Formats: sequence, structure tokens, C-alpha cells
Amino acid sequence: MSIGFAEVRIVKGSALRRTELDTVILDEARAQRRDRVSRPVACPQMTLNAPVVLEGVGLHTGRMIRMDLHPAGAGFGIVFRRTDLGDAPADVTDITARHDHVGDTMLSTVIRNEAGTSVGTVEHLMAAFAGLGIDNVFVEINGPEVPVMDGSSQVFVETIDAIGLKPLHASRRAIRILKPVIVQDGLKRAALLPGEGFKLAFEIEFDNAVIGRQSIEADFMSPTFRDEILTARTFGLLKDVEAMWAAGLGLGGSLENTVVVDGDHVVNEDGLRFNDEFVRHKVLDAVGDLALAGAPLIGRYEGTRAGHAMNNRVLRALFADRSAWELVDMGASEEVMRPVAVPAE
Ligand SMILES: [Zn+2]
Repeated sequence: MSIGFAEVRIVKGSALRRTELDTVILDEARAQRRDRVSRPVACPQMTLNAPVVLEGVGLHTGRMIRMDLHPAGAGFGIVFRRTDLGDAPADVTDITARHDHVGDTMLSTVIRNEAGTSVGTVEHLMAAFAGLGIDNVFVEINGPEVPVMDGSSQVFVETIDAIGLKPLHASRRAIRILKPVIVQDGLKRAALLPGEGFKLAFEIEFDNAVIGRQSIEADFMSPTFRDEILTARTFGLLKDVEAMWAAGLGLGGSLENTVVVDGDHVVNEDGLRFNDEFVRHKVLDAVGDLALAGAPLIGRYEGTRAGHAMNNRVLRALFADRSAWELVDMGASEEVMRPVAVPAE
């Protein structure tokens, strides 16, 4: 089935540009498919065990969006296809979820292909894929943004958990950070540093009594990461939320999917999931944005007041310096790099 989807893409005449990283991963996947009988895979790439449908409102358009997640083969990566564009060819409908396709980072991370077709708010879904250790998914979506669900990755994680994952006959590869890559813009800073595993540190400071100054150190490999980070919701200050609505933006935003802060209190009746839910959500966003690297990272991320723009800038800076990273095969010893392996059987 997964090969079938890859073929659909080829039949439609996809003209998606490949990066050096894609080419290496694809070559490796092909070689390993040839060898699959003789060579067991220590740390396999993963896809979904079965297709699954998610429906919900888009945060910015306010429209109901249907998203079909399909299993995909090794080396496929995460590819979105807009199904609301009629019979348009693949180079119009398909967008590979990758850092060099990020087109806009104002309110969410928007990926865009060369034909100008885009899908917005990909970061919470990408964080769920990363957090579950999923490498290959074909995402059909009938609108311009991923549904916001509860404002975190929780619904995506639970839905995918329920159907399970399927290992593929190809090794996972990771991007190991070899030297510090730092981008700065005034008080905003994002950095990728060498290190073992994948750790994230984040610091925010808001001139607001509820949010204030918050910092966190998170370990992506920790079994609690999904419950303590991937459940943290999107947030906004009431005055900003009202200004957005007045400008015709954030039309799908509500207390169902956004933590709204007004002065010294949280507007949502049930309050916060964590006292520092705000900085936890920033870590979730960073995981989703960094998943656009195209493979898991080995190293340390540091964010200070950083948002989607800075996260994308630091990834682009990383890939602009060929001596700053290397692609490593994840053997049995790096199995720890899979955060939450949930094989179907
Ligand atoms: Zn977010």
C-alpha cells in the first residue's frame, strides 16, 4: 500500500526538488530494500500501521478540514497533498514537509511548493510525528491548514497511537550536529549545539503576570515527553487574540483550542494544564519546526523568545554549513533515539 502511494506521486509527474539529504536517504532506502532478505534492520524507519482520518477546524481560516494520514514507504518522508485542487498535477498539489519549503512563519509554520500551494499550521502535527518516531506519512488534506484540534499535539498522538506503527525495511538515519549554529535577532535567539540524544531548552519572557518569565529543559527521549510537552496548548493574550479576530485572522480560534490570557488571569474555565504550559508549548513548536530537518536530530536546541521564524532560520543556517552536521545510521545502540516506539503487534 505504501509503495502504491509513492507510485501515485510519480504517475502525477511530481517535480519536487530533492536536497542532498533526500538523495542520500533515498539511495540508502533503495539499497536496503534490495538487501532486505539478508540484512535485519536494527533501528527501522516507521510508518503508520493503517490509514486514519482526522477532522477539525483550521485555526486561521475557521474552516472544517479533513486530513487523511496514509502509510508510506521508506525514504518517502512526510508529504502533504492538497486534495481540494481538482485534477492539478503533483507539482501543484504536493508539498514535502521540509525546512526549505517553509514560506511563512507569521502565525504558524506554513510550507509552500514552487507552484505556490501551501499548507499552514503543520508544526503540531509534525511534533506528533517526531514524538512518536514516525518517518514516513502521506497526508491528504482538503484545505490550506492542518486542523488545530485541542491546540496541542495530543489528539494527533492519541489517534496515531490507537492504530499503531509499522516498521519498514530500512534503517533510520539521524542528523548529528557537529558544531554550534546560532541565529540571533535582537532578544530572540535559536541555537543548535552538539550533544547526545536530543535535548531542548527554552526561555520566554512576557510582560504579563500569568506568563512572566518561564524556562524549561526538556529531554525528547524521556518517556514523559509526550505527556508533559506534547499536550501543552497554543496560547495568546486576549488583546492580541481580539486584534487578530478583528483583522479576519484566527477565525477558528476559541477557548477549545487556545489558552487565552487576560491580564492576571486565564480566561479558559478549566485553567492551565501546567503552570508553565506556555514555555512547554514553545518546546512543542520547536520540535515540530525542527522536524522539518527531514530526519531526527542528535544534539541540543536552545530557544530564547524564539518562534517559528527563528526555528526555521537556525535549520537553514545548519544546512548552509556542510561541516556543521553529518548523517548517521541509527544502529541498535541508537535505538534510544526512538522516543516512543509503538509497533502494531
Ligand atoms: Zn504552536
